[in-house]
Amino acid sequence: MSTLAYNERAERYQSLEGRQQRRGRELLRVAYHEAGHAVAAIVENRSFRSVTIVPTEDALGSCSASRWPRNSNPEYSTDLLTLKRLESDIIVFLAGHIAEKHFSGRNNWVGSSHDRRAAADYASYLVGSDEELAAYQEWLWIRTEGLVRVYQQEIATLATSLLTEKTIQGKRAREIFLTTQRSKFGIQSATLDVKPLKIREGQPDD
Ligand SMILES: [Zn+2]
Repeated sequence: MSTLAYNERAERYQSLEGRQQRRGRELLRVAYHEAGHAVAAIVENRSFRSVTIVPTEDALGSCSASRWPRNSNPEYSTDLLTLKRLESDIIVFLAGHIAEKHFSGRNNWVGSSHDRRAAADYASYLVGSDEELAAYQEWLWIRTEGLVRVYQQEIATLATSLLTEKTIQGKRAREIFLTTQRSKFGIQSATLDVKPLKIREGQPDD
């Protein structure tokens, strides 16, 4: 083999290696985005069926939320539980973009446009004016950034698990979350759990 041919081969191999590295980083970016949605859903006590980085025709990954109960519809329900669900779902929508940004260091506005549109749509049920909508969305963004910062280790662990498992069911994602929390806080037993926010409708505090 001539030196030239050898060099060509080496270059081709390097570019293949470069492509594989870029592909791996791209997958991890998607995994962080989806893990952001999933961890926010766990923290906000919103159930989801599964989280995946298996691409479809129109998405690189997804975190499939469970359906809203029939008796709770933002179109006409104004009870506290519905309002809390809406706000939690907005946080879950925003957490994908923010977790991805924490990993990659840049805003992927295009990739998260669908999430942000859905968040704005949900937020519009909860405000009375455009001015309030803008302020509310800004506050939710800051709140979600805080959540992603606090749970960055849980998000990182779930993202890494997604790289190997590709699709993770909601129950298993919650186990991964709790295991990470136990090691983070040095807790041995299964005493740690995410405390769901309890909102009881029409009941006085006892
Ligand atoms: Zn998303």
